[in-house]
Amino acid sequence: VCPTAALTEVSYVQDVWNALHDPDKYVIVQTAPAIRVALGEEFGLKPGTIVTGKMVAALRRLGFKKVFDTDFAADVTIVEESKEFIDRLNGKGRLPILTSCCPSWVKFIEHQFPELLDIPSTCKSPHMMFGAIAKTYFAEKFNIPADKIVVVSVMPCIAKKYEIQREELKSDGVENVDYVITTREFAKMIREAGIDFTKLPDEDFDNPLGESTGASVIFGTTGGVIEAALRTAYEWVTGETLQDVEFHGVRGFEDGLKEATVKLKDMELKIGVAHGLGNARRLLEDIRDGKRFYHAIEIMACPGGCIDGGGQPYHHGNLEIVKARMNAIYEEDRRKPIRKSHENPAVIKLYQEYLGEYGGHKAHKILHTHYTPRETI
Ligand code: SF4
Repeated sequence: VCPTAALTEVSYVQDVWNALHDPDKYVIVQTAPAIRVALGEEFGLKPGTIVTGKMVAALRRLGFKKVFDTDFAADVTIVEESKEFIDRLNGKGRLPILTSCCPSWVKFIEHQFPELLDIPSTCKSPHMMFGAIAKTYFAEKFNIPADKIVVVSVMPCIAKKYEIQREELKSDGVENVDYVITTREFAKMIREAGIDFTKLPDEDFDNPLGESTGASVIFGTTGGVIEAALRTAYEWVTGETLQDVEFHGVRGFEDGLKEATVKLKDMELKIGVAHGLGNARRLLEDIRDGKRFYHAIEIMACPGGCIDGGGQPYHHGNLEIVKARMNAIYEEDRRKPIRKSHENPAVIKLYQEYLGEYGGHKAHKILHTHYTPRETI
């Protein structure tokens, strides 16, 4: 938020309250992976405290009909993106493939590098995929009119408020996600409702859009999206079980630009990871000028990734807090019984019951997008 109040962040908190009190609406919510490791700070808990169960309980008490997880859709993103990556490795499309989960980064490349717009993955970001699935598959499966469903995203990110308005991300002119509120705004709603957060019991997400894997949790930190994609791409390309799912070469936030090499059968995959747009610019200039080559790249606009997003609790420059959130993300991954996106049973069922093939026609229609060169003023 601008310190002189010349610019203010748009808040949808009142709209969300209005929807929750409207008997004609069926209001559901999804929460991004980075929320569960930071929300506790708003209620005096130690940075890095994992509050997944209390977060779900709080959302239920606020009145949401279903409490779902963006992590479910992150698993869907990974199967779609891995399919796209393998297609490009097989000559169908240009390398490197760039991850497309971060709307600030997507807007940056549209303005600054329009000549490279064929390299980002065409996958929508996970919360947009979630909205699209909620208003199609979920609506049809549970016989709820899609126009009654209101999708609210709790995000660590202010740019997601802009992202939901992008024309390219609407389905037949209808927004996939209706409102985005940040972690701080969610905490404000909990306080407004008089809920004693720290006393809440732990509760589970609703299903079917609440089931997730460790791969999806790590989306919340820099390097996590590419690591999740590698877990799936490795098994799909080699046909072998990946014994050690942790790719430490792409982890950490000390280096703004990281490189790693991953052996995939007889191929050596070159992976790049950038966080912070200054680092992204250097990387893209080198790719454009032919100075560096990668097979796949992850870019996140915020240093550290979404754990340090603009909507998260303020840390006033204390990077130990960001580190504690990052450690908590990896801890949550280790706790999960399933750690590869393509093994998520709810995702497998979604494809069997509704979408058909990975990367197929229906999946493309609902889950993919395109990019537009934009003028820089
Ligand atoms: Fe939003 Fe920052 Fe995450 Fe990008 S890295 S999606 S801008 S919170």
